[in-house]
Amino acid sequence: CFILAIESSCDDTSAAVLHNDKVLSNVVAGQAIHEQYGGVVPELASRAHQQHIVPVVAAALRQANIDKKQLNAIAFTSGPGLLGSLLVGTSFAKSLALGLNLPLIDVNHMQAHILAHFIDEEGYEKPSFPFLAMTISGGHTQIVRVDDYFEMTVIGETIDDAVGEAFDKSAKLLGLPYPGGPFIDKYAALGNPKAFPFTKPNVPKLNFSFSGLKTQIMYFVQRNTEAQSDFVNENLNDICASIQYTIINIILDKLKKAVKETGIKSIAIGGGVSANSGIRKAIKDGEAKWGWKTYIPKFEYTTDNAGMIGIVGYLKYQNLENKNSFVDQGVSAQSRLKI
Ligand code: ATP
Ligand code: FE
Repeated sequence: CFILAIESSCDDTSAAVLHNDKVLSNVVAGQAIHEQYGGVVPELASRAHQQHIVPVVAAALRQANIDKKQLNAIAFTSGPGLLGSLLVGTSFAKSLALGLNLPLIDVNHMQAHILAHFIDEEGYEKPSFPFLAMTISGGHTQIVRVDDYFEMTVIGETIDDAVGEAFDKSAKLLGLPYPGGPFIDKYAALGNPKAFPFTKPNVPKLNFSFSGLKTQIMYFVQRNTEAQSDFVNENLNDICASIQYTIINIILDKLKKAVKETGIKSIAIGGGVSANSGIRKAIKDGEAKWGWKTYIPKFEYTTDNAGMIGIVGYLKYQNLENKNSFVDQGVSAQSRLKI
């Protein structure tokens, strides 16, 4: 079947066309407008989605070489995310489904980050159940036990900032542009990870906390800049390497604990922060060190994109006898939505 998928939960407008579990097109329009504010401004995001949605959907259909009359269903992100952003994709999907008389499939964005591993890609082995999914992004930090496509349990999550925020807020304190995660990654590769020891928080169970690290870095920068005004510039590589090293250790500690508690050694990562080269390497190294089996998808499918929404649409569509697969026109966006 052919599915058109729409994603608009945060600051990327995206549309994809899938044929079964294969992605034919996956178009993403980002929003540069937020850079000058050092973070996503919800009202501006919503307005930019309104400008992007029509051309992005048209481009996805054109690149897939599919006419909208050939579509079998429309999938869209119903939550979680910014309400004003979600409403643009939701209203657009509903109108299109009404106009074309197609079934509508609502998709949970966080499930989609996990099920992105089931997109058919040449040379990519899909995880088998059960596995642990680690979703690390600008808005989330979760360890999820996945027993089946739609049987997921969150077994650990952040109690304050997400790991992407930890990267971005640290970068901001160092005077780097927004979003700063990729810059920290770049400079970290050139520095000594043990140059400046930062302490790891002590958080119970499989949960995470990153706000303490941010405060530590703030005082660290203040203190050292008072003594030497160009301290940050002089030591940028070492500072970035040390911050990244601390974040990697926080994540690895909890993953090791999750493996021990569940006995599950298959680990699939997703979310924009899984682009981080240090995190990728540390998790991959777990294969040799602790017998893990790790799954790291193509970068395109780890950040916010409609391809991952489409694969969930396909998995729900396949399950036709399950009446919950489709939603009617009464459906609306929900900014808070559990997995
Ligand atoms: P969510 O998916 O939870 O709604 P989001 O849309 O902000 O949140 P993504 O687009 O998945 O999340 O990821 C964006 C985040 O990933 C940003 O915080 C960005 O700094 C971070 N990021 C991207 N590349 C890297 C990298 N190489 N190293 C560290 N962080 C990175
Ligand atoms: Fe996301």
